[in-house]
Amino acid sequence: MKNSKNYEYLLNDISVLKGIGKKTTNILKKKNIQNLFDLLWKLPKSFTDRTKTSKISELEIGKILTITVNVKKYLFPRVRNLPNKVVCQDETGELDCVFFNSKEGYIRKILPLNKIVTINGKVNYFRKKYQITNPTYVSQDESIIKKINSNYSLTEGITEKVYLKIINQILDNLPSLEEWHNKIILKKFNNKAWKDSILQLHDPKNIGDIRSDYYKRLAYDEILASFLISSQIRKKIKKNKKKSKFFFEKDCFEFIKKLNFKLTQDQEKSINEINIDLKSKNKMFRLLQGDVGSGKTIVSLISAFNVVKAGYQVAFMAPTEILSTQHFSLAKKIFGEKINIDILTKKTDRIKKENVLKKIKNNRTKIIFGTHSLFQKKVEFYNLGLLIIDEQHKFGVRQRMALSKKGGPNSDILLMSATPIPRTLIMSVYGDMDISIIKQKPLNRKKTITYSKPESKLSDVIEFVKKEIKNNNQVFWVCPLIEESKKIDHQSAINKYHELNKIFKNQVAIIHGKIDPDEKEEVLKNFLNKKYKILVSTTIIEVGIDFPNANLIVIEDSNKFGLSQLHQLRGRVGRGNKQATCILMFKKNLSNNAKKRIRILKSTDDGFKVAEEDMQLRGFGDVLGFKQSGIKNFKLADPIQNEDLFLLAEKEIKMIENKKENLDKYKPLLKLYDQANIINEIA
Ligand code: ADP
Ligand code: MG
Repeated sequence: MKNSKNYEYLLNDISVLKGIGKKTTNILKKKNIQNLFDLLWKLPKSFTDRTKTSKISELEIGKILTITVNVKKYLFPRVRNLPNKVVCQDETGELDCVFFNSKEGYIRKILPLNKIVTINGKVNYFRKKYQITNPTYVSQDESIIKKINSNYSLTEGITEKVYLKIINQILDNLPSLEEWHNKIILKKFNNKAWKDSILQLHDPKNIGDIRSDYYKRLAYDEILASFLISSQIRKKIKKNKKKSKFFFEKDCFEFIKKLNFKLTQDQEKSINEINIDLKSKNKMFRLLQGDVGSGKTIVSLISAFNVVKAGYQVAFMAPTEILSTQHFSLAKKIFGEKINIDILTKKTDRIKKENVLKKIKNNRTKIIFGTHSLFQKKVEFYNLGLLIIDEQHKFGVRQRMALSKKGGPNSDILLMSATPIPRTLIMSVYGDMDISIIKQKPLNRKKTITYSKPESKLSDVIEFVKKEIKNNNQVFWVCPLIEESKKIDHQSAINKYHELNKIFKNQVAIIHGKIDPDEKEEVLKNFLNKKYKILVSTTIIEVGIDFPNANLIVIEDSNKFGLSQLHQLRGRVGRGNKQATCILMFKKNLSNNAKKRIRILKSTDDGFKVAEEDMQLRGFGDVLGFKQSGIKNFKLADPIQNEDLFLLAEKEIKMIENKKENLDKYKPLLKLYDQANIINEIA
């Protein structure tokens, strides 16, 4: 009895489950488990086999065992706080069942005198006698106990019994769904149906069996759902028509000539791709991907210039104020008085803000820089023609969609990211966009040399810093991340600042999250002008900022940072043409993973390789910032293990797109797997 809406059962709130209280539901909801479907992906980690029973003489201390015994005698002490005991025996010996906090009546009921009872629990030994304290299971019907049970990694506050009750209730009522895959695809998974696959997934005997058909089928479901969503978004965006932009490519040559470098081929290629999009009648939705330091900013500024020349405004958004300020200053430097530009951040004061908002509205400001604050309703453009978003991995699909709407009728969108994506994931992560890639680094670049130093060698590091300063180079000093509280990160930076200032008098500056924006800007300007030699900071310099004269970066407590983050930080140096150095400092006792991270960083400065290694170490969801972006991690699919499935899904999607296939049959798949409801929003 397959009903096309069978899947709806799984979208029910967990509160529909029987015999489960509010407390349990709340605990699960806190873990982001909203409905029955979400629970299906908490998989058993191991299982307990209670099918075998032991004799009392064979009991092993510390093990969870099942025994069948005869109930002989109650020992209910008259003193409060002493446990109740029940003496049990089999033909090989005696055992006490010990109960704390259980009433006599209850004990008499579950362990009636002279009855044969099966008990399961952890065995201990006390005063020369075996004991089972607060047994997990007690029953006169041994078939209830003698089972193989899945063990789930339990959420605090939920007992195994309750959890099994929950999950078994769902599995017992699991609906059969109408098949969404075609015959050819299904055959690749030996025709495993969805329901059957889920049941096998939860069968304790199959734990870790990721090569089997049912596992692959379910992984493929997820991948296909994710690709379908991207494909729909892209289709929707491509449908958007706009006026084509008219400008002369050679107009920008004038200021390109003024740069003290030549554009790389990849930069030129990207500019061309963007120009074609700008001139077309379809809205651009393009990602510019390139490793740290590959020179994305200049590409985007050239595009901004062209769009202004075509008579439109440009919004340039960055995830942090520092970065935004830096883009703004760079634009000021290269555009001079020719183009009116402004900056708007959360901390811009009210009067100035109102003034800028007015200028944006009446088209006096041509390029507006800013952070999230550019999202606000108050920001009204006269005629926005291009929206540039730097370090886009800090923003998610949902925000991207909001932007594509916000832009207005003629706005193209250019996103930039330094996080390389493995091929298998491009479609899931960026399938909604076209992509330009900058692979080459500027020619003059030298590979940054990376050292690691234990904290005890601090004086060596100080000597090195002295040498760099003597050679007229500048230094970043990144202070440890205080994990427990981002709020007090700045304290360690302040301490370090005082410490270094004693050695390098008047040559040290500091920035951290607590410093107000004007002062921050002032400090950065002074650092850029080489008034200071050392900039002490928290990780706020992690994304994007660019000081070509900084040659050395010291990262304290580097073992606390992730691989990609260290690569980003290291990318702050080596942007000019001198040899740059990165020193990773660490406290003693590095974990194996930390050692591995250091080894990888020493061996390569290729962001793509670093990202791949990082994904092996941490899982790709963490590396790509899925958690903050709102795209869910895959539940089963793994871009490395299941590469073949990703490629298969890519082919399938192309076929679906080419044949303009009706998506109706995928409806249950999308409803279940796209609970963020992105697909509905674009429909
Ligand atoms: P990212 O891609 O990390 O955003 P940036 O755009 O900040 O990199 O560029 C890094 C540095 O490289 C900047 O100082 C920039 O001026 C410089 N740069 C950009 N393109 C080139 C090039 N073709 N040759 C030399 N230096 C370049
Ligand atoms: Mg950048």
